[in-house]
Amino acid sequence: MNVKLSTVSDKKMDLTCSACGHNFSYKIADLILATSDDTTTHEVRQRAVCRGCGARGNNTYVIV
Ligand SMILES: [Zn+2]
Repeated sequence: MNVKLSTVSDKKMDLTCSACGHNFSYKIADLILATSDDTTTHEVRQRAVCRGCGARGNNTYVIV
């Protein structure tokens, strides 16, 4: 699934780190403020840094 943030602006993105299993989430509305509504969820996934172990882009995600 690869969608523009603008199409899911009322939802959340839940990520799970593949390295340590840490769960974290972002409000899509906050991601749009931090990036742009043209950004895709896939780009966010690649940039996301785990707060548990510091791994970048090593995660899975769901839009909820
Ligand atoms: Zn981690």
